[in-house]
Amino acid sequence: MTVAVPPATTRPKMLVGGAWVDAADGRTLDVETPAKRGRVIGRVPRSGAADVDRAVRAAAAAFPAWRAVAPRERGRLLTRIADDLDAAVEDLARTLASETGNAIRTQARPEAKVTADLFRYFGGLGGELKGETEALGEGMLSYTRREPFGVVAAIVPWNVPIQISAWKVAPALLAGNTVVLKPSASAPLAALALARICQAHLPKGVLNVVTGTGDEVGTPLASHPLVAKISFTGNTETGKAILRLAADRIVPVTLELGGKSPQLLFPDADSDRAADGVIAAMRFARQGQSCTAGSRLFVHEDVYDSFLDRLAGKLAKLKVGDPLDEASDMGAIVSRQQFEKVCAYIDEGARQPGARTVIGGLPPSEGRLAEGYYVQPTVFADMRNDWRLAREEIFGPVLVAIPWHDEADAIRMANDTHYGLAAYVWCGDVAKAIRTAHALDAGWVQVNQGGGQVVGQPYGGFKQSGLGRENSLEGMLESFTQRKSVNVNIAP
Ligand code: NAD
Repeated sequence: MTVAVPPATTRPKMLVGGAWVDAADGRTLDVETPAKRGRVIGRVPRSGAADVDRAVRAAAAAFPAWRAVAPRERGRLLTRIADDLDAAVEDLARTLASETGNAIRTQARPEAKVTADLFRYFGGLGGELKGETEALGEGMLSYTRREPFGVVAAIVPWNVPIQISAWKVAPALLAGNTVVLKPSASAPLAALALARICQAHLPKGVLNVVTGTGDEVGTPLASHPLVAKISFTGNTETGKAILRLAADRIVPVTLELGGKSPQLLFPDADSDRAADGVIAAMRFARQGQSCTAGSRLFVHEDVYDSFLDRLAGKLAKLKVGDPLDEASDMGAIVSRQQFEKVCAYIDEGARQPGARTVIGGLPPSEGRLAEGYYVQPTVFADMRNDWRLAREEIFGPVLVAIPWHDEADAIRMANDTHYGLAAYVWCGDVAKAIRTAHALDAGWVQVNQGGGQVVGQPYGGFKQSGLGRENSLEGMLESFTQRKSVNVNIAP
């Protein structure tokens, strides 16, 4: 297999106060492509607390002028960014595929497109930053305003790096905040490319990007005294650490965290469509590296064996390979560390007494797929909901299947998790499907549908999957504005 990663290592700088800069101490971080072990495709600044301080101060300095720009004008700039993002889809898609390992056709290009859609969507919401008047009696004029917080720290993971950046940057800027964006050390290149496009339309310091690790950049950013709001997407444990940091200064926090989402399949579901949908919902095309991956599959016992056979037949046809190859359905796991973690779970599943491997397993140690961090779609059957593989977020292409015979018991098992991000119902009876959707503890339930979020729908988790909502008007207002009431005595 020839891996078509960019021939030269790119060395982008990061964005602070409108300037493209190196880390203060000159340190750098290598970015490897997961498509080919050890192949470095980029080198970015490795920042520390001094760089974070510089970026936050630049954002704070830019805030008064930016909040004074009329909301519709801020929206117009976001729309222009969206136009430029549309024009850059192919470049962004290649960068995304190279650094994340996500296949260009099924994941990276759609992510680049949706990033443009998000900037366009939020760009159109300038007129929605409105308040209300309150009836407090004849002698009083009372009204509310929606005001920005100030400097927003936006901390994002590697799995869909620019879509998640857009979820935060676009609404935060529209609402009049300035932003310091911290991409993951595993996938900073597309985020820097996104910033370059944004910067062409924004005043200096309104958007800043600081690259580096969680410890060296994320922690000082989340605890910086001038940061007025934190919007974080990532692991639940990291989210808890950020909440603790924020508690010291009572800084508001929006959290989009992990998941172990259930898929509930009833015997009357259209088996063929459901099998395609289960594959989509499990996000196999993103190697299962999705917070909304439907990674626990509960199948009614009457159709359990036949459905798993059908599912395995479809999974066997997925082409795992070079993320830059248009023919690949699935690419590579993002990093060696993540690959080893996923392999450890697969090893455990394969040796779990009572469980059965339906398809997949540990990746081959030589041959085409051993060149990078490739893992075949893997399904374990006859699992129990209290086993580790059914409880912990694997963040890999590993689906566990559990049979059920009693509906109430199936719903109880689906809800028996400390996560509550997404859930999927596969059912032929619409009333039963809706009753089930209402009974599931999740921020987002899909019925006979396994695809991703639609721009504009409120998105976020129940329980330990998150706090607050994104991707929507409500998300923008909730996450990036604070309400002020103004009372004016107008008595004669
Ligand atoms: P992660 O929590 O390790 O890292 C996320 C970001 O936080 C990175 O930029 C990282 O550098 C930074 N970070 C790490 N430690 C930090 C600290 N102590 N203080 C401040 N920042 C810190 O997550 P990840 O491995 O990059 O991403 C995978 C996780 O993200 C999964 O758990 C997944 O479910 C979750 N996720 C959630 C959503 C959602 O919308 N709910 C979307 C995508 C990913």
